[in-house]
Amino acid sequence: METASAEAPKPYDRFSLEVRERIAANEGVLAIVVLEACNMARIEARFGREHRDRLLALLAERIREALREVDFVAQTGEQTFGVVLSGLRNAGHATLAAKKLLRLSEEDAQQAIKDLEAIDLRLGMALCPGDGDDLASLLRSAQLALEVAKDSQQGLVAYEQQSIDSSTVVWDMHDELAAAIRDGDLDVYYQPKIDIQTGAINGAEALARWFSAKRGPVSPDEFVPVAEASKLIEPMTRFVLNSAMRNLMMWQRDGHDIGVAVNLPSSMLLDPGIVVMVDSLMSIWDTGDQRLTLELTESAIVADVETCFATMTRLRELGCRIAIDDFGTGFSSFSHFKSIPADELKIDRAFVAGMREDTADQRIVEAIINIAHAFDMKVVAEGIEDRETLRMLRRLGCDAGQGFLVAEAMSQEDYDAWLDARRYAQPEP
Ligand code: C2E
Ligand code: CA
Ligand code: CA
Repeated sequence: METASAEAPKPYDRFSLEVRERIAANEGVLAIVVLEACNMARIEARFGREHRDRLLALLAERIREALREVDFVAQTGEQTFGVVLSGLRNAGHATLAAKKLLRLSEEDAQQAIKDLEAIDLRLGMALCPGDGDDLASLLRSAQLALEVAKDSQQGLVAYEQQSIDSSTVVWDMHDELAAAIRDGDLDVYYQPKIDIQTGAINGAEALARWFSAKRGPVSPDEFVPVAEASKLIEPMTRFVLNSAMRNLMMWQRDGHDIGVAVNLPSSMLLDPGIVVMVDSLMSIWDTGDQRLTLELTESAIVADVETCFATMTRLRELGCRIAIDDFGTGFSSFSHFKSIPADELKIDRAFVAGMREDTADQRIVEAIINIAHAFDMKVVAEGIEDRETLRMLRRLGCDAGQGFLVAEAMSQEDYDAWLDARRYAQPEP
């Protein structure tokens, strides 16, 4: 990868030139990320100029290491860096790459990186196409996003999130969500999963719910991304995991032979802390082997296969099952798939919904079932809404399923009652 010297603040010119060239040659998505190490003056006051310079040089080095060959980084000011990432597949990949940079100041695996923990790193990001199509507008957008990150105490802010119209919405939601998580105002609902071949109950997927006093119910499709874009995702995940595992312990105590599945957001897979979190919750609730399934999305894994596979392997060693969620919608290549440490594939509900009408969807579902079985994995179909689809899935050999036909997600109390009502009932034929 090309770099400009990080020691002396390099003129903006080199960076500008690189960005201009990359905009001209860009295919796919290009991201401009501006990073600021915000507390350098304080570090200098405490530890001296030399330490401060050493930290900045170390940070520059780590940024370079975290980037790909095609990316470019330059120190653009006393405590700021500019990064250009090009040829990205979509905005999600840009966010993942930026989060990797954000995490440079959080990781503590090596002593050298430990020092970086002292740095208060903030990132602003702008995308092309979308947030500007020339150097000046992109830099302005990224800079604006950085200002918002600093004001709102967020690590990373993408420009689109704080466009004039939606800014108040996003900020309000962030603060309200923080309060909801802190005060235990989130809920966890459970959607039953059944064995498609026998009709027996397998367990449930835990799904976060937020009934805001101010806004009414807020969809997880809205608040999960807000949590993911900030540090709230860690306490939110802990809350859902803890609720699900506490309930799992109670269901087992009541004699139900079932498990529970929890969604693990992409960003947390790059954080070694997740293994510690799961390990400690497993020993607190003593939920046993192979009862907790963690659902991960493909796109997250593609961003950093090696790190993700290592984390997945450690989670499995703890006795967790790993499911690949929304399978078929990401970009998994067979070379990665070959060694994927997973126990289950979940067929995205878009394919399942289309099965009855669309033979292409049907063939995709069949292919996913076959490949899962060829690799000794179970297959779960999501979004089963009618009997015909259920029958087709059974015929194709699909292992498990969930969807409105069986039940919608429900509160823990309703799910308890649902389980009890079926305890002695015959499984559906
Ligand atoms: P997902 O993991 O794919 O979850 C399944 C979604 O499909 C749920 O929506 C569920 O209610 C919905 N669904 C289930 N059966 C059917 C059906 O038969 N038809 C249709 N049309 N939909 C069905 P929900 O609860 O709104 O969750 C949306 C997404 O939000 C989830 O997608 C997941 O990505 C995310 N999410 C929800 N809870 C959590 C959480 O605790 N943590 C994280 N990280 N993400 C969560
Ligand atoms: Ca899921
Ligand atoms: Ca899914």
